[in-house]
Amino acid sequence: MYSLDEIKENYRGFSDSKVENIAKNESKGLRKEVLSILKDEIKRRNLNISLISWVDTETKSFDGDERRVLLKKIQEQHCPKCSGKNILYGFETNTVKSFLIGTSFIKDEVILCRSCGKQAKLNAILITFFAGWWSGKGFLSTPFIILKDTVNFLFINKISHRILNSSVDRTTGSFRRYGTTDSVIIRLINWKNNSV
Ligand SMILES: [Zn+2]
Repeated sequence: MYSLDEIKENYRGFSDSKVENIAKNESKGLRKEVLSILKDEIKRRNLNISLISWVDTETKSFDGDERRVLLKKIQEQHCPKCSGKNILYGFETNTVKSFLIGTSFIKDEVILCRSCGKQAKLNAILITFFAGWWSGKGFLSTPFIILKDTVNFLFINKISHRILNSSVDRTTGSFRRYGTTDSVIIRLINWKNNSV
């Protein structure tokens, strides 16, 4: 691992656009000490000062009780598909579609109530079952994908936990900037469900 001095040295050598790019897109993965180096560099170069508040909102993660409350709030929204008031879960679906010369693998994550989520998974399995076989690659992978997705039915809670938590991590900045109100949460759920 690089020492902080070496990292500082590296940052000094970066172009302005590289520093901006790190601030906009990569700040979430940086250690606290490196974040201060990044922010110092933004100030030293007189780059757009709003980059600093951007970095602050992106990296102020939701932990402990705050995360629990937010996850609960997400799960208590109406189902975006059937508008029902059942608890929401994160679901993973896998679809394989093959043509004679090509195969497409689509991994999707959606936030839905239990019955809509199960339906979405069944649909993906059915599509794969009928459309997955028609290429060499598809022929070999289709049984595994169907098996994996079927077994995943046994782990709905565990998979949901992973998907909801990673969604919160990915949208930390938006929640910090716009708040964790119902309308922000609904927008993020819809965005997630339509983003593939
Ligand atoms: Zn539903």
